[in-house]
Amino acid sequence: GIPDEMAVPLPTTKSFPSVRYRNEETRKRVLITGGAGFVGSHLVDKLMLDGHEIIALDNYFTGRKKNIEHWIGHPNFEMVHHDVVNPYFVEVDQIYHLASPASPPHYMYNPVKTIKTNTLGTINMLGLAKRVKATVLLASTSEVYGDPEVHPQPETYWGHVNTIGPRACYDEGKRVAESLMVAYNKQENVKIRIARIFNTFGPRMHMNDGRVVSNFIIQALQDKPITIYGNGTQTRSFQYVTDLVDGLIALMNSNYSLPVNIGNPEEHTIGEFATIIRDLVPGSTSEIVNQESQQDDPQQRRPDIRRAAEQIQWRPQVLMKDGLLKTIEYFRAEIDRNKRGGKP
Ligand code: UDP
Repeated sequence: GIPDEMAVPLPTTKSFPSVRYRNEETRKRVLITGGAGFVGSHLVDKLMLDGHEIIALDNYFTGRKKNIEHWIGHPNFEMVHHDVVNPYFVEVDQIYHLASPASPPHYMYNPVKTIKTNTLGTINMLGLAKRVKATVLLASTSEVYGDPEVHPQPETYWGHVNTIGPRACYDEGKRVAESLMVAYNKQENVKIRIARIFNTFGPRMHMNDGRVVSNFIIQALQDKPITIYGNGTQTRSFQYVTDLVDGLIALMNSNYSLPVNIGNPEEHTIGEFATIIRDLVPGSTSEIVNQESQQDDPQQRRPDIRRAAEQIQWRPQVLMKDGLLKTIEYFRAEIDRNKRGGKP
């Protein structure tokens, strides 16, 4: 063994949030791919507090250890550095398959990798689910509707996607991921859940996420110009991350295997959104500027969430303004932390 004088003592005084006690019967073993990411880490929190055993998988392309560091060392939690493009072997009851870059600049950075993650990664998770008879939930996306010609978008709409556009790696990647889910369900009896996630925001979004909420908040906090791509008449509908997490868990624990939209139907133009955010950052002197529009940018997006209400009794609870205030506080603290060179 290691001589005593060489053994480095580990800090032992870490305290954890208290988690619910569960017996073997109701405690689930849950795999979360993308578990150190923005959505994944909030899902880790909720399921850990609820007393389940969690294995979080991440390749740290956009996920960060900091998002889950408060659980490291907890007996119910395991963090694994792994890329879902490669097979992974484990025994679990449920798989939340969230791994994929999700913001346009991140998924366009390496489109081939985005496609591999969503196709090979999904095949690997479905193969795992088949072997261990786990239920697998796919984090799909409103992007499967492309630049929609039906408004708001119900799950029955097939979408309007450019197969050769800059968004195709993500849109088509998720579309084939949905097809893979359905094929494994039909052919191999794998239990599947498909969540079509609409725009989501909240604490732990990446500083360089590049999506509209984080961009506008960071710009407003730093008194930099708020950059609207195009004329700002395009619309989005934003949900707060805890609502999304509640929806994912409700869907997983239902027995509904068709796609379900998870999003908040409160819709705003991006122009309105710039003003809303600036007004929520007291004293911000940011001006609002228009930049070149982005190719294939969906012009309108709002979920029809009647199916979620009927099938999984879910609807969003958090007001956009309340969520935005929490997110602004998060980024304010992050900006301060970065100024101190990343120290807490
Ligand atoms: N957008 C913008 N300024 C930014 C970032 C995004 O005007 O700094 C626009 C973008 O063109 C799109 C909308 O905001 O119309 C939402 O973009 P985001 O990247 O957040 O997500 P998407 O819904 O397009 O995936």
